Amino acid sequence: MRTERIETVVIGSGFGGAVAAARLVDSGVPVTLLERGPWRDTAPLANADLPSTAPLPSGRHFPTHVLRRASIAGRTVNLHRDGLFDIHLQRELSLVCSSGVGGGSHVYSAMNVRPAVAGFWGGHHEAVDDAVMEPHYRWILSQMGSRPVADMDTRVPNWIGSDNVPGWMTLDGVEQPALGLDPARGQFARNSFFGSRDGNKVTLDERLLLPRLGKGLQVRDRHEVLDIARTNEGLRLTVHDHGSGHRRVLLAGRVLLAAGTLNSLKLLFASRARGSLCGMPALGLGIGGNGDVPAWWACREPRRDYRAGPPSHGRFTLVDFDDCPDLTRYGFNGLPAPLSWMLRRDLVLVGMGADEANGLARWHRGRLLFAYNGAANPVLARIHRAFDEISRRSGRPVRFLRHNPLTVHPLGGARMGQDLRTSVVNADGEVHGVPGLYVCDASALPAAPGSPPSMSIAAWAGHVAATLTQATTNLNANLEGGHAA
Ligand SMILES: Cc1cc2nc3c(=O)[nH]c(=O)nc-3n(C[C@H](O)[C@H](O)[C@H](O)COP(=O)(O)OP(=O)(O)OC[C@H]3O[C@@H](n4cnc5c(N)ncnc54)[C@H](O)[C@@H]3O)c2cc1C
Repeated sequence: MRTERIETVVIGSGFGGAVAAARLVDSGVPVTLLERGPWRDTAPLANADLPSTAPLPSGRHFPTHVLRRASIAGRTVNLHRDGLFDIHLQRELSLVCSSGVGGGSHVYSAMNVRPAVAGFWGGHHEAVDDAVMEPHYRWILSQMGSRPVADMDTRVPNWIGSDNVPGWMTLDGVEQPALGLDPARGQFARNSFFGSRDGNKVTLDERLLLPRLGKGLQVRDRHEVLDIARTNEGLRLTVHDHGSGHRRVLLAGRVLLAAGTLNSLKLLFASRARGSLCGMPALGLGIGGNGDVPAWWACREPRRDYRAGPPSHGRFTLVDFDDCPDLTRYGFNGLPAPLSWMLRRDLVLVGMGADEANGLARWHRGRLLFAYNGAANPVLARIHRAFDEISRRSGRPVRFLRHNPLTVHPLGGARMGQDLRTSVVNADGEVHGVPGLYVCDASALPAAPGSPPSMSIAAWAGHVAATLTQATTNLNANLEGGHAA
C-alpha cells in the first residue's frame, strides 16, 4: 500500500472537526479532513461542485438511510454506509450520534447556547478558563447566525413563546435559546432531527466547509479512519475509503481527532489495544450524558399539529415546583407519514442539567462498553420528578426510560486537564505523551455544561486550532530567526 504524506489531518466534520478545520485554514494551515459519512443532499449544496451526495432519511429513503450502525451491548451491526445515525444501546447508558459531512449539525435541534454551569471552563487546567474561551464562543455563534426567535422577522410556528401554554407551565424567568436557523430558507415543517433538506437549519457543511474547499481545505467524504499509530515519522492513519472499497495509509504530521465521543473513544481504545498507541491511563474516565432525559408526552392536544415548527419549540418551567430542571419541548417532525400523523398532537420533552460526568468507558474484547450509574447522578431523578409532575398536572402520560439513561449529548472519556492520571489531553488539546495527536470534540469536554453542548465543543475546537496555529507561528518565527542568524 502506498503511503501518502499530509501535514495536518482532521478526523470528523461535526462541531469539533468542522470548526477546527475552518479555523486552521483561515490561519493559512492547509487541512485534509476525513469524514466517514457522505455530503448530504440539501438545498444549500445544490450548486456545489461535489462528486456525490447522499439523501437524508425521508420518504422512500427513510428505512435505508436512517441508521448507519447499531450496537447492542457493544456488538455492532453495520447497516448502510450512508445511514444518518449510529445508535449504541446499553442498559447503563445508550447514546445516539450521527454521520455525514457536517456531523451533528444535520440532526441537532439548533439550540446554540453557552454552558448552564457558571465558570464551566475554570478549574480543569490553569491555562484554560471562561475568558480564554469567550472569543471562540463568539466566533461560532456568529458563524451559525444564531439568534433568539424574538429577533427573527417571521412567525416561527409552534414556538412556545407565542403559544398558549397551560396555567401550570410558565415561561417567566426562562431564558429561551438562540437558534441557528435561517427562516428565509425553506420551511420549518421540513426541518427535523432527520436533517433539513431546504437548509432551514444552518449546518456546518455549507457554512464552514464548502466556502473553504480548494482554498486550503480538502474534504474526503466516506473515508473512515480505522487506526491511529504513532511512528518515528509521524502519525500513521489506516483509512477505509467507502467510495472505492480500498484501504489507504496516510502519514500525518499532526492529527486532530473529532469523530465524536463514541467514535473517538472507539478509535483511541482500539488503536491502543493493537499497540498502535500507548499510554493514556485516563482514557475512558469522565463519561457523561449531560443529564439528558428524553420523553414522549402523549398530550393529544386537540386541533394541533406540532410538526410544523422547528425541532425545538423552546424552554419552559413549572409553576410552584422547586428546583425545576431545564425543560425543552419538541414536535415529532420528520418521521415517516403514518407515524408522524399519529404523533402530530404529541410532544417530545427533554430534561437536561449538568450530571456528574462520573461514568467510565472501557474496551473489552474489541467492544466499547460504558459504566454509568443513573442513581449517582441526582439531576436525573430531578428530571424524572418534573416529568411525573407534568403527567399528574396534565392528566396525560409522560413516558421515558427511568432506569436506562439515553443521551444525545455524550461527552468525556478523553477529557482535558492538567494531570496525566485523570485526563487525556492538555490545555492545547494534545494527548499527554502522544505529540501531534489532538482531541477536539465532545470527548475532550472536562465536565457537563448542563445545556446543549455544541457551542462548547465548537469553542474548544476553536481554542485547539488557535493555540496550534500560534505554536506553529512561533516555531516558524524561531526557525526563521535561527536561519537568519
Ligand atoms: C437528535 C439530536 C439533537 C441535538 N440537539 C442539539 C442542540 O439543539 N444543541 C446542541 O448544542 N447540541 C445538540 N445535540 C448534540 C450535538 O449534536 C453534539 O453534541 C455534537 O454534534 C457533537 O459534536 P462532535 O464534534 O463531538 O461530534 P459529531 O458532531 O458527532 O461529529 C463527529 C463526526 O465524525 C465522523 N466520524 C466518526 N467516526 C469517524 C471515523 N472513524 N473516521 C472519520 N470520521 C468519523 C462522524 O460521521 C461525524 O460526522 C443534539 C444531538 C442529537 C443527536
